[in-house]
Amino acid sequence: MAPVAIADFNKQPTLAHVQKTEAFEDYKGGYRFAPIEEAQVSRAMIKRYFNTMYERAISDVVIIGAGSAGLSCAYHLSKTRPELKITIIEANVAPGGGAWLGGQLMTPMVIRKPADRFLRELGVEYEDEGNFVVVKHAALFTSTLLSKVLAMPNVVLMNATAVEDLIVHADFEGQQRVAGVVTNWTLVALNHDTQSCMDPNTITAPVIISATGHDGPMGAFSAKRLVSAGLLKELGNMRGLDMNRAEPAIVNGTREVTPGLILTGMELSEHDGSNRMGPTFGAMIGSGVKAAEEAMCNLDKCEVVGGKVVGRVSA
Ligand SMILES: Cc1cc2nc3c(=O)[nH]c(=O)nc-3n(C[C@H](O)[C@H](O)[C@H](O)COP(=O)(O)OP(=O)(O)OC[C@H]3O[C@@H](n4cnc5c(N)ncnc54)[C@H](O)[C@@H]3O)c2cc1C
Repeated sequence: MAPVAIADFNKQPTLAHVQKTEAFEDYKGGYRFAPIEEAQVSRAMIKRYFNTMYERAISDVVIIGAGSAGLSCAYHLSKTRPELKITIIEANVAPGGGAWLGGQLMTPMVIRKPADRFLRELGVEYEDEGNFVVVKHAALFTSTLLSKVLAMPNVVLMNATAVEDLIVHADFEGQQRVAGVVTNWTLVALNHDTQSCMDPNTITAPVIISATGHDGPMGAFSAKRLVSAGLLKELGNMRGLDMNRAEPAIVNGTREVTPGLILTGMELSEHDGSNRMGPTFGAMIGSGVKAAEEAMCNLDKCEVVGGKVVGRVSA
């Protein structure tokens, strides 16, 4: 029997079978793409995606949720501290959370002052109505913010990936500390009832920022997990709508709620039992920026080895 040839899978595919053509941009019928092999497309994605997963298994900061609070946080943190490895985990295929529309599915987005400063920083135009400003379409804000976050070299976004659990360790002082996240592809996470033994993956980090929004199919994830893990007695549950009470409560209440875990955005309303504000988004911006400030402050106080907090930095 003739020996079976073993392919060299490390060899780059050649373009031997592809007709040699020059790329040419012509919209009168002569548009020609540069040639490609299907395997090149697969390898171009696979090597980047899995190298990134390998590298980000230890991150400096993990942000759970890429809604307006999580993205505002990522923007401020990555811009202020470009040396930090910031990994965003977003359960949905489309990042942006609830910030693609304003209230009752209308397009304009209302942002109260002083959060308008963030819009100027992003370069998002708005109409000034005195105490608040209006962006003509919420998607203009969200797409601009998202594009700026994704362009940061220190930010990785893994969407279609859900945080299924938190890593909780005893720290160097014997105190329970949130020390990372447990992840799975969202489609897997949604099928634990239909398939068995689909084990997850982990990311270790000294600071986790949870921005998973208010309660819903996936919302308020970390706040709810703190309760089921016995780290929080009960949820405060989001209270009725009061814009004037709700927004400052969310921004000023943004904090580390348990060692290693900072809550931001509407998730905090479920944890603290603060009011909902409806379709005003300044609090998501302010809370995200404050979460980034808290993260930097906490990181500066910690001695970190291999993504784990092993001591305190002496003053
Ligand atoms: C139905 C509806 C009701 C609303 N009600 C209110 C309200 O009462 N009060 C109010 O102020 N605003 C409300 N809004 C407006 C607006 O959506 C929120 O204020 C705003 O989106 C909250 O921003 P956020 O960043 O905190 O959370 P979100 O915009 O909700 O973003 C959270 C993100 O986290 C992701 N996520 C969740 N769990 C996980 C997980 N386990 N792993 C990974 N990612 C995860 C989600 O996919 C989402 O992208 C509502 C919006 C909608 C669509």
